Amino acid sequence: MTENRTGRRDKRRPDLDTVYTINADGSRNFLHPADVRGRWQVLKNLIFSILILIYVALPLLRIGGRSVIHFDLPGRNAYLFGLTFTNQDFYLMFFVVTGIGFGLFVVTALWGRIWCGFACPQTVFLEGLFRKIERWLEGPRIARIRRNLGPNTADKIARKLFKHVLFLSGSYAIAHIFLAYFIPMDELLDVIRQSPKEHMSAFGWSMFWTAVLYFNFAWFREQTCIVICPYGRLQSSLIDEDTIIIGYDELRGEPRHKGVEEGGDCIDCYRCVEVCPTGIDIRAGLQLECIGCSNCIDACDEIMNRIGKPKGLVRYDSQRSFEGQPRQRLLRPRVFIYLFLGLVGLVVALLAISSRESFHANALRSRGMPYSLENGRVRNLYTIHVQNKSDRASTYMIDLDNAPEGLEMIMPQPSMNLESLGDGQSPVFLYLDRSSYVEPFPLYLSVTDSLTGRSKVLEIMFRGP
Ligand code: SF4
Ligand code: SF4
Repeated sequence: MTENRTGRRDKRRPDLDTVYTINADGSRNFLHPADVRGRWQVLKNLIFSILILIYVALPLLRIGGRSVIHFDLPGRNAYLFGLTFTNQDFYLMFFVVTGIGFGLFVVTALWGRIWCGFACPQTVFLEGLFRKIERWLEGPRIARIRRNLGPNTADKIARKLFKHVLFLSGSYAIAHIFLAYFIPMDELLDVIRQSPKEHMSAFGWSMFWTAVLYFNFAWFREQTCIVICPYGRLQSSLIDEDTIIIGYDELRGEPRHKGVEEGGDCIDCYRCVEVCPTGIDIRAGLQLECIGCSNCIDACDEIMNRIGKPKGLVRYDSQRSFEGQPRQRLLRPRVFIYLFLGLVGLVVALLAISSRESFHANALRSRGMPYSLENGRVRNLYTIHVQNKSDRASTYMIDLDNAPEGLEMIMPQPSMNLESLGDGQSPVFLYLDRSSYVEPFPLYLSVTDSLTGRSKVLEIMFRGP
């Protein structure tokens, strides 16, 4: 039983041909999942609490005076766990995202949509915070449905009003913590205290995200997973008959029966459907809407306990096993392929990160002619560009390593003092008597970071007529 827009009780049952949360006239069939208790709920609540704590704590924790995670969009830099990344390191994102993406593929191939049910931010905040507020203020499923269908009493209006104030506050807090990943917390607190007119951009973003989150958690809810998220649609191509999924043991459960009739173990109590946050009936098989939340497992185990039957009519198992065949290997070719591709991405990213330089330097020949003649001497002009990629100020010394006899180097600025993430450039004039020049030859300029003592050698060519 659910509540439809017309306020009538809806006897419609989930089927495989329609989306249960959308009515035939296109209106929303708003769900009121029932409360459920069990071992998976205990584990989920623990994971949700830890993940929410991490989300809140990360912008507050500091390493070397900076937030553990800080994306400085205007400066095009990122500070991650004590490492500084500039826009020149952006290519690393490709390997990191590839590694994480294939990592998720491995998890899905092994355990289906465990990510969606246990760790996706949508589930974590909806189940770990917003639904809890709703249940606290509006009671269990039946009380919520009855109140919604009943008249607008003072009690109903007060409960709804308070709920939405808390929903808005929760959305506001999550949006501002999200902003703290981009604006350091102390600055963000200043921004919040000041007039919105002084920080229109930050204010606009915070209001935008608050509105999006409020809309999502107060009303849109499971539609985000069903309609918007592309991951659910990938599911069917990532899993196979050996993937551990949540399923109903048809061989044991059928034929369903109520009361004293003889039959399988399923008593058709409908409890597994009532607790489902996407409104599906797991007994019809694995469906795109299933987010792997495990509510139906705990719900059915509760029923099995009550009727004195073994738990596990709805459980984690492979499709092969549900069909009565012996379960096959967990580690299959597709798992190894995803694992290999994921590891390639992560290993390349880790190698690239560990071999990153604390500064970047290059030498560029001046535009136009590669050389000029001045008072019987050949002149080459280069510009040395240095970027400090570390989070500390440093001095960079420029020197010529292999000056041949007769070659003169004039550098107006032989060293550069650069702030953290600052950059600078210095011209280098190279002179050689016209009579000594025979053919182009290489020169090696070294740029040394005084802080780390590390040098970078730049090869340039001296050219003449
Ligand atoms: S079918 Fe079960 S696991 Fe899937 S979303 Fe519904 S309750 Fe969660
Ligand atoms: S909770 Fe278990 S017994 Fe009840 S309908 Fe679902 S599968 Fe059948």
